Amino acid sequence: MRTPIIAGNWKMNMNPEQTAEFVKAVKDSLPASSKVEAVIGAPAVDLPALLENAKGSELKVAAENCYFEDEGAFTGETSPKVLKEMGVDYVIIGHSERREYFHETDEDINKKAHAIFKNGLLPIICCGESLETREAGKAEEWVEGQVTAALKGLSADQVASLVIAYEPIWAIGTGKTASSDQAEEICAVVRKTVAKLYDQTVADKVRIQYGGSVKPANVKELMAKENIDGGLVGGASLVPDSYLKLVNYQD
Ligand code: 13P
Repeated sequence: MRTPIIAGNWKMNMNPEQTAEFVKAVKDSLPASSKVEAVIGAPAVDLPALLENAKGSELKVAAENCYFEDEGAFTGETSPKVLKEMGVDYVIIGHSERREYFHETDEDINKKAHAIFKNGLLPIICCGESLETREAGKAEEWVEGQVTAALKGLSADQVASLVIAYEPIWAIGTGKTASSDQAEEICAVVRKTVAKLYDQTVADKVRIQYGGSVKPANVKELMAKENIDGGLVGGASLVPDSYLKLVNYQD
């Protein structure tokens, strides 16, 4: 009943020309969005090229971040209101890179989630533990804490419609994928947390992605897990051929 959602997260890679080329290469080979939602998260500077070239295709578009105010004196920030006006569908928030390098707090992420909904967009909320936290046996409580903080004050309907991406920091860009059992274990914790905060109906609707070295070779095994509804993919989403293998993993 949950539509799988595979999202590329390009991070700070690609320029508008490369973006246009990429979309032209994939747009006619995407799955129907009712079967698998195919999303690309691109840097703000590439969004116009992405949106323009994706027009009329099944591709959905995500921003990689936004601010929690719609407008004003916030030099360098991106307005969620303008993202909506441009035609963006999703905004990735709380990525571990943003938490680590740009000092984003749980409170910022929660404010962004509210601003995203206010503007008619959907958030993809990232969570995930460091290697140190995992080795201390605290991964579950860490992720539960991040999810609880991010969802604070959101309605049941809002939570049922959003996406949570579990990305263990130690598996990002390292080639070290969490085993499908490790990924499933924490994705189940995420769903349990939503059930605890809301109810089982909401928990059954929320889509949970795994992220961290997802590639064509492991996507099927990950997607077969009960609580994994999608992938948030960095490196392997930058090449049209591997992106298409990921979104068409059912074929
Ligand atoms: P990689 O797929 O490159 O490990 O990146 C994962 C990620 O951070 C996606 O948001």
